Amino acid sequence: TTVYVPRDSAAVSVGADDVASAINRATGDDVTVVRNGSRGMLWLEPFVEVETPRGRVGYGPVSASAVDELLANGLLTGDDHPSCHGLVEELPWLRDQQRLCFARVGVTDPFSTTAYEAHGGLIGLRRALELEPAAVVAEVTESGLRGRGGAGFPAGIKWKTVLETEGPLKFICCNADEGDSGTFADRMLMEGDPFCLIEGMTIAAHAVGASEGYLYVRSEYPDAVATLRRAIDIAYSQGWLGEDILGSGLRFDLFVRVGAGAYICGEETSMLESLEGKRGMVRSKPPIPAITGLFGKPTVVNNVLTLASVPKILSDGGAAYSALGFERSRGTQVFQLAGNIARGGVFETAFGISLGELVNDYGGGTLSGRPVRAVQVGGPLGSYLPADRFDLPMDYEAFAGADAMLGHGGIVVFDDTVDMSAMARFAMEFCAEESCGKCTPCRVGSVRGVEVIDKITGGEDPDGNLALLNDLCELMTEGSLCAMGSLTPNPVRSALDHFPDDFTARATRTE
Ligand code: SF4
Repeated sequence: TTVYVPRDSAAVSVGADDVASAINRATGDDVTVVRNGSRGMLWLEPFVEVETPRGRVGYGPVSASAVDELLANGLLTGDDHPSCHGLVEELPWLRDQQRLCFARVGVTDPFSTTAYEAHGGLIGLRRALELEPAAVVAEVTESGLRGRGGAGFPAGIKWKTVLETEGPLKFICCNADEGDSGTFADRMLMEGDPFCLIEGMTIAAHAVGASEGYLYVRSEYPDAVATLRRAIDIAYSQGWLGEDILGSGLRFDLFVRVGAGAYICGEETSMLESLEGKRGMVRSKPPIPAITGLFGKPTVVNNVLTLASVPKILSDGGAAYSALGFERSRGTQVFQLAGNIARGGVFETAFGISLGELVNDYGGGTLSGRPVRAVQVGGPLGSYLPADRFDLPMDYEAFAGADAMLGHGGIVVFDDTVDMSAMARFAMEFCAEESCGKCTPCRVGSVRGVEVIDKITGGEDPDGNLALLNDLCELMTEGSLCAMGSLTPNPVRSALDHFPDDFTARATRTE
């Protein structure tokens, strides 16, 4: 019998290691415990699955102390039990997804090369290696894949620029500095299916003529770092990395670098500075990294999910990928449900699903059971949206049209006890804390922003200070060098626009 117990940090944080040990202790050699990634149904972790003739049957949440009782009452046979959820593949949360990036996450042991290949791994790389680099770029362009880090820039155009820029040394840099609030898809992919990312980066290397790659991972992700390092060692031992990849003659070496905890290093040029061993400060653009990137060489900088989408694009073709999606947002996005939500986790589906379907239908509304008042989409620089905007389709342009942004697909839910003036203040405070300090509108503006919001909520000349706050937001938007300063006004302005009473009510209370 085979039992699956996730090994990723979300599952481990709620006791998955103890559950795996308890099953091993109780069953000995009769049961093989495979440590898979998480299926992304985080409210059910530790989620234990048992292989049965009908398919995998899931139980959760399972605690170590409940293992003996579960084993006595059907865990190994997939029988009914209060914590049994039935056939995993038939759970609506999984059944309704279109998992391309996350196809293997939760299904396979992340270190098993056999399982990787048995579930579609390497098909994309093998096909790419048969194609000329320009044909690989054309496939990615046809797919319509856009950068999943937040900016949504077409990956094919970026790759084409690097391909067409002459140079003896080019780099592929994967931005895994996943710092946005409410986001964890990069981490889950790295911990649940690291070979997928390695394969995507290798395809990118062949496509643009790069020979070295760097994975820049945030220091807060020690498990992801350890998983990637082990997976890279395995990939070298299999000939999936190194000097003659799969006998093609392609050389590609891959290294992991750990950041030091600065949000701004998620901005691509700061990340490059950090990779070069310098302080993470934003570079002026132009020149763009595609032409003058890491150590001044042509460089592809893409997010984890962008690169992890590439193997499937190459295996199934760009047209198949582009057949999914909505308007100019093609393919799938891995949405992440977090905050005050009943069922949090990752949900990969084609663009175009509505915000309300994700939050209410799949997320089940708030964990507190109170009404949803606001959601913040796209990280700490994203706008707050009220529940009456839940009809918005998850699409880059639709969100831009609502003065919001999709960002990295993180959705943080708040119930009706939230004080939106406090959230607006937090946005300015966050910017003041994380600003790299290079330009004045962001460095100084964020500090002044906190002060002026305090004056408004403290009842000090609210009208005058509101006008001042609006001016300050405009200045930061127009005058900041990068998105950190120019987007911070988004959460502030959206809180003011959609929830003005929270600002005046506090002022009135103070009087
Ligand atoms: Fe640095 Fe902020 Fe200016 Fe960006 S906007 S360059 S983070 S000071």
